[in-house]
Amino acid sequence: MANFRMKASEKRIPGIPKTLRVAGIDYKVILADFMQDDEGSLLGVHDFFEGWLGIDVCVRKNKDLAKIILLHEAIHAIDKHAKTGLVEEQIVALANGIYALLKNNPKVWRF
Ligand SMILES: [Zn+2]
Repeated sequence: MANFRMKASEKRIPGIPKTLRVAGIDYKVILADFMQDDEGSLLGVHDFFEGWLGIDVCVRKNKDLAKIILLHEAIHAIDKHAKTGLVEEQIVALANGIYALLKNNPKVWRF
């Protein structure tokens, strides 16, 4: 991420945890008032090497979108761990598809 900038937020998003365990590693979940790089504003970011996932709090009124972004960034982290080399379109499709699967079948994956 070239010239990445963000401002951490004091706001919280209901249902979004402060940490998320992905592939056996606890990632810090950072909520931000803004995140941007040279290509513009970002709704979500992951940093594999520093171990954090970021979500822009502008999505806080849409719990589904916030959770899809969290899942999307977690899939990026899984992809890095597994070295599968997924492209952005595949990550988007997997996050949307897996989220819908879990949400539409809540009794199947209860732990
Ligand atoms: Zn992405």
